[in-house]
Amino acid sequence: MTKLKLHWQILIAMVFGIGIGLYFQDTEFNSNKLYGLIASFGTIFVRLLKMIIVPLIFTSIITGVASIKDSSRLGRLGIKTLLYYTMTSLFAIIIGLTLTNLIEPGIGVELGSNGSFDASNLKTPGSPAEILIRMVPLNPFNAAARGDMLGIIFFAIFLGISISRVKNQQQSTLSNFFESMFQAIMKMTETIIKFVAPIGVLGLITKAVANSGFEIFTAVGKYMMTIAFGLSIHIFFVLPLFFFLMTKTNPMKHFKAISSAMATAFSTSSSSATLPVTMKCVKENAGVSNETASFVLPMGATVNMDGTALYECAGVIFISQVLGIDLSISQQFTVVITALLASIGAAGIPSAGLVMIFIVTQAVGFRDEDVALIIGTMLAVDRPLDMFRTMVNITSDSIGAAVIAKSEGEKLYQNS
Ligand code: ASP
Repeated sequence: MTKLKLHWQILIAMVFGIGIGLYFQDTEFNSNKLYGLIASFGTIFVRLLKMIIVPLIFTSIITGVASIKDSSRLGRLGIKTLLYYTMTSLFAIIIGLTLTNLIEPGIGVELGSNGSFDASNLKTPGSPAEILIRMVPLNPFNAAARGDMLGIIFFAIFLGISISRVKNQQQSTLSNFFESMFQAIMKMTETIIKFVAPIGVLGLITKAVANSGFEIFTAVGKYMMTIAFGLSIHIFFVLPLFFFLMTKTNPMKHFKAISSAMATAFSTSSSSATLPVTMKCVKENAGVSNETASFVLPMGATVNMDGTALYECAGVIFISQVLGIDLSISQQFTVVITALLASIGAAGIPSAGLVMIFIVTQAVGFRDEDVALIIGTMLAVDRPLDMFRTMVNITSDSIGAAVIAKSEGEKLYQNS
């Protein structure tokens, strides 16, 4: 009997997760032992992925950057990556802006305190300049211990470049060491995905469904539909079209190649936790070289978040509509720019995008007290939107890696 392909296993796990989650929804599931066991599979899966993120980012970036001997290629990759990230995120923001202005999901929405979360425990993020400052870690080991992605990436790129510049003997010793370490971490990733991903996804989906109450969703249903619609346009139309124009390849090939990563992003709501799976799919299924993948993807998981960018923009326009405030053109422009910055600064973890909305609301002059209740309600319904936007985020990263690889003359999708 041939073994079922991984993406089918994951899809089946999702369907079962929904069924089991619905079953537990009306019960005292938190004290149910079977529920506890199933949910723990999800927690273990996420912990395993998180366990390998720091060594994976570290070794993959150093290996990738150190192997780029030609410094002009490194500069070229950097510029292409930045261009791609900015362009696709701006596209996503424009979609969010247009849809919320057309559909006006916030007009007439009355939010009582009923069902809302207390937003006062949401930590307000710092200013956009802090994002830049945060990139330079005071201590790389501390950055690694805290899982500070931007800091780790900065240090790893710098170290990779420096390794490629030291004398021959030392250079090959160091390169070989990090390369071997990287291969070993990729083996760990493979094992985790092969043996734990389906059952982990089952646990995560079960938990997400069991915990979702439906009453609050009806109050802000239009808001949710607007964002889901925008995300769908971006992931099913804009990104595939761009991919096709740049690579002349059927986008379905790419979606097939990254299906496991999409499912993992959907169920974990974390681009960072999904990174090992994205790396594996993009390298092994799409055929992107390690040099390109290790440069584009870790950075992408941290700073390129199209789904989050769309959400930041649409979310703030929604808030302004609920408050009954008409945003001027220049304020809407501020929203576009700060939504981009907020998406860059958002960490690749669940609900990070929602917290970053404060940066945008502050930029257009809303007071935290006024928006806190609305953001609290948005938090209550955030999980499904977060799942969707995380999937959009990693899809954009992977398309970026493929498009850039293609432009560097790499041969892709040879196995499909
Ligand atoms: N959860 C998202 C991610 O990890 C970030 C967000 O909340 O928008 O990509």
